[in-house]
Amino acid sequence: MSQSEILFERARGSIPGGVNSPVRAFKAVGGTPRFIAAADGAWITDADGQRYVDYIGSWGPMILGHQYPAVVEAVRQQALVGFSYGAPTEAEIEMAELLCARVPHLEMVRMCSSGTEATMSALRLARGATGRSRILKFEGCYHGHGDALLVKAGSGLLTFGVPTSPGVPAALAELTLTATFNELDTVEALFSRYPDDIAAVIVEPVAGNMNCVPPAPGFLQGLRALCDRYGALLIFDEVMTGFRVHPRSAAGLYGVRPDLITLGKIIGGGLPVGAFGGRREVMEQLAPLGPVYQAGTLSGNPLAMAAGLALLRALADETIYQRLEARTAQLLAGLRAAAAEAGVPFTTTQVGSMFGLYFSAGPIRGYADVAACDLAAFNRFFHAMLDRGVYLAPSAYEAGFVSAAHGEAEIEHTLKAARESFSLLRG
Ligand code: PMP
Repeated sequence: MSQSEILFERARGSIPGGVNSPVRAFKAVGGTPRFIAAADGAWITDADGQRYVDYIGSWGPMILGHQYPAVVEAVRQQALVGFSYGAPTEAEIEMAELLCARVPHLEMVRMCSSGTEATMSALRLARGATGRSRILKFEGCYHGHGDALLVKAGSGLLTFGVPTSPGVPAALAELTLTATFNELDTVEALFSRYPDDIAAVIVEPVAGNMNCVPPAPGFLQGLRALCDRYGALLIFDEVMTGFRVHPRSAAGLYGVRPDLITLGKIIGGGLPVGAFGGRREVMEQLAPLGPVYQAGTLSGNPLAMAAGLALLRALADETIYQRLEARTAQLLAGLRAAAAEAGVPFTTTQVGSMFGLYFSAGPIRGYADVAACDLAAFNRFFHAMLDRGVYLAPSAYEAGFVSAAHGEAEIEHTLKAARESFSLLRG
């Protein structure tokens, strides 16, 4: 037995399913999840000493690779003066000022400890600020596991075929309306049915939890116009896209103004972090200034602020984003060529250094196109790549991520594995 098999067996004795977040369990693709012992740059090493080129990057945060020296040093320095104080620190101001300076339309920001907390809090704030109770989300978009948002959700829920979780009271689920990503008329239909009831539209500006679906031209602008017409707030959930798709996040890339933005992943440098922010008059509704309550023992945690600030400061060099985009395009062109050579129908999508792989002739415009892909082919490809030292997301409903540590050698290693894996699929 491998160490990962031994550890998985042991983990299942005391952790539900052996994992602390469902997609890690390899349930969709089958087999044994790799237990990770270490990571460095673009590579992760499992408990058996096998090394893999990592295209998950902790599901997004590791944009400059694992163990980025400035981040490691910042965390080390902070650890020497304390882990958590439960009182304000200057680093929290620096984080808030940096986020507001870099992300357009962010005037004030509140830190929390996860993306889930960020979206839950943003929704409560939107409901409190508008006095309305319904929210509108998109099928296949995932915004964390807050009750109101676990309706027709993406990520692990799509992977396991339970898009609406038991345990969410019907009375609450009823207040969550779902529309079709990239189809504005489905949004307009809901607004005309509930013109005075919708507090907010929440959207992943690039849908990264049903693989990687870019917004159709005009879609985000159309959401802005509908929210203005009906008096609802527009929330961009940028937990994944924030500082990933563009130095000024998706709001900067697409030039659309949201009222609230949620952030996570990259802004914590790999430590547990979330944040939500936006228009000053909306944010001033929050306690202690206003009546909408939100709090957290570890909010603005000093170690997380140190890691996040060090990473964000390194990302001030915007040429990194051009290199990331070019590297990702090189990877995807190589994968498409390998698939074509093997005669396997295959499509890719890309926004910056986020990408999607599809066993389908395409095009990919939304959830229905993703759901129509050949899942069995993906699962075989996933395992063939894993056996050859390439670690892709263990689900056909997750985006992939390239880091600045992925160089020529890593791409070459990946494409060699891909040529062999695609030819296995054909055979
Ligand atoms: N929103 C989006 C867009 C996400 O991708 C995720 C997590 N993948 C979340 C929210 C939830 O974040 P967390 O897992 O940190 O709670």
